[in-house]
Amino acid sequence: MVSEPLLRVEGLEVAYGEVQVLWGLDLAVAEQEVVALVGSNGAGKTTTLKALAGALRPRAGRIVFEGRDITGRPAADAVRTGIVLVPEGRQLFAGMSVHENLMMGAYARQDGMGAIRQDLDWVYELFRELAKKRGQLAGTLSGGEQQMCAIGRGLMAKPRLLLLDELSLGLAPVIVDRLVEIVTRIHRERGLAILLVEQDLNVALAMAGRGYVLETGRLVRSGAAEELLADEAVRAAYLGM
Ligand code: ATP
Repeated sequence: MVSEPLLRVEGLEVAYGEVQVLWGLDLAVAEQEVVALVGSNGAGKTTTLKALAGALRPRAGRIVFEGRDITGRPAADAVRTGIVLVPEGRQLFAGMSVHENLMMGAYARQDGMGAIRQDLDWVYELFRELAKKRGQLAGTLSGGEQQMCAIGRGLMAKPRLLLLDELSLGLAPVIVDRLVEIVTRIHRERGLAILLVEQDLNVALAMAGRGYVLETGRLVRSGAAEELLADEAVRAAYLGM
């Protein structure tokens, strides 16, 4: 990459106490790029996203966003900088309505109610399913609707880089297809940069142009989506073929 990417990660190392789980990760996401991070259970995908979102403090390495070193900054700073995580398991406020959950996403914005309302309309247009249920408690939504609400809440923060953790987890294929369609639309309409984590290679590479393969805390492969999908070793490891 010739110009400075939107996100550049160098030598990232993260540990939980004595147990180190990421070992020197180097990765980059360009403006408007959709990149996948794939790998099996426990490889360290969620840990990587949490470190980028400021929820975990790296032991070593650098996280550079728009040319600025943001390593070790707290999560609230990351959101203000434009890095927004849609967490695994969605973590909605179950006792609050869909509308309230979406508005929680906008808490750190300073660009005024007009802009926030416009984004809210856009989110309801993207997720027609939610528009009909804006007053319903999030805890009573179906799994797919909860995932939509979590993505919508992330979008309400007006991200420059959206981190999506395991969108497809536990959802029926027809719902996963709908989520893939919406993520593709979000990218097309807003040119948003997205780093997404998936265990399912096919789902990941249906959305991403490029991917990285993570194995027990180390990046072992990277390449264009079609290259990774055509790679026998990668397919054997992640598609069970
Ligand atoms: P999954 O798809 O299962 O979420 P993952 O690739 O996202 O897998 P991580 O959740 O990042 O993997 O976990 C990486 C490693 O770190 C695992 O061995 C896991 O047991 C360990 N780990 C994760 N969270 C903690 C924690 N809070 N304390 C200690 N170890 C942890």
